[in-house]
Amino acid sequence: MESIKFAVLSGDLIGPEVMSAALEVLQEAMASSGIQLDFQEADVGGIAIDRHGSALPQATLDLCSQSDAILFGSVGGPKWESLPPQEQPERASLLPLRKHFSLFANLRPGLLFKELTQASPLKEERIPDGIDILCIRELTGGIYFGQPKETTSLSDGDIQALDTMVYRKSEIERIADVAIEAANSRNKRLCSVDKANVLETSVLWRQVVTDYISKKAPDIELSHLYVDNAAMQLVSNPNQFDVLFTENMFGDILSDEMAVICGSLGMLASASLGKSKNKHNKPFGLYEPAGGTAPDIAGKGIANPCAQILSAALMLRFSFGLEAIATKIEKAIKKTVTGGTRTGDIAFGSKAVSTSEMTAAIIKNL
Ligand code: NAD
Repeated sequence: MESIKFAVLSGDLIGPEVMSAALEVLQEAMASSGIQLDFQEADVGGIAIDRHGSALPQATLDLCSQSDAILFGSVGGPKWESLPPQEQPERASLLPLRKHFSLFANLRPGLLFKELTQASPLKEERIPDGIDILCIRELTGGIYFGQPKETTSLSDGDIQALDTMVYRKSEIERIADVAIEAANSRNKRLCSVDKANVLETSVLWRQVVTDYISKKAPDIELSHLYVDNAAMQLVSNPNQFDVLFTENMFGDILSDEMAVICGSLGMLASASLGKSKNKHNKPFGLYEPAGGTAPDIAGKGIANPCAQILSAALMLRFSFGLEAIATKIEKAIKKTVTGGTRTGDIAFGSKAVSTSEMTAAIIKNL
C-alpha cells in the first residue's frame, strides 16, 4: 500500500477546527510508515449551501465516490436553522451520503477513561474503571426507511400518520457479520437488543441473530435484551456490556444514551460502514465525531479535537486495515488525556488547554 485516498469534509463551525487537528495527527502518525496520505477537501453542510446552494454539491459527492473513505467533521448551526427541514445541513448532506453509499452499520465506541469518570453523569461507584462498550446500530433499515410512510386525512375527519418497520433476514445477517467481527476483536460478548415480546421485526431479528451466530461464531457469548431493559441496564451497570448491537431506531436512542454516560461528546468517534469494498478490499466508510458543530464554543480555538482524531484512527483501522497506526493514535490520546492535558470540556476546573495545544501534546505522545 503506497497511499490511502480519502475525502475530507470538514463542514461547519468547529468542524474545520478539529479536522485540521486530525489531519496534523494523521500526517505525523503516518510519517514513518512510508504510506502517503492522499486526501482532498470539499464543502459540505452550511458552508456548501452558502457557496454552492446545496448542502451536498455534486462535486463533493463525486470526490467521495472517487475516494476509499470519507473523514467527516460536522455540519449545521444557527445560521441555517431557519431553512425548511429538508434543506437543513444535516438532513441534506449526511442522510443522503449514508443512503448513497449504503452505509448500513454504525459503530460507536463508548469509551470513558477511568481518570475522566467525573465527566459522566453516572455516580463514580457505578463506573470505577470508566466505560468501554461498543454500540453497533443498523443504519439503513427499520422504521426510518420502511414504506409506506404517510399522513392521511380519514373519512371520519381524523388524521392518521403511519410509519412502517421492516427488516429482511439478509439485512439482519449483514449487520450480524459486523457484530461478530467486532466482538471477535474485543471480549467476544455480544448483546443483541430487540423488542421481541411485541414486534414482528424483533421476533425475526432475534431468531436470525440466534441461528446465524450459533452457526458462524459459536464461541461468541450471545445474550438478548428487550430495548426497555437495555436502556435501564446501560445506566445502572454499563460495563456488563462488551458489544451491544441493535436495529436502527433502538440504536439511535441507545447510542445517544451511551454517549451521554461517557461524558463529553468531544471524546466520542463513530464509523459508518458500507456494503461496498474499497480498493484495499476493506469496507468503504464514513468517519465522524459523535457530536455536532458546537456553536457555543466555535471560533474560540477550544474545541476538543479527540473525537475527530479518534474518527481518523477508526478510518485507518476499518477502511485501510492499518491497525497498528490506529492503535498508536488511540494510545497517544489516552496518554495525553490521562496525563492531565485536557480541553475545557474534560478539565473539571483545572487548567484547560486550547485545541492546538491539545493537538501538539497528542503528537508528542505518538
Ligand atoms: P453539539 O454536539 O454541537 O453540542 C452539544 C454540547 O457538546 C455543546 O455544549 C458543545 O460545546 C459540546 N461539544 C460538542 N462537541 C465538542 C467538542 N469537540 N469539544 C468540546 N465540546 C463539544 O450539539 P447541538 O448543540 O445540539 O448542535 C449544534 C449544531 O450541530 C446543530 O446545528 C446540529 O444540527 C448540528 N449537529 C450536527 C451533527 C453532525 O454533523 N453529525 C450532529 C449533531 C448535531
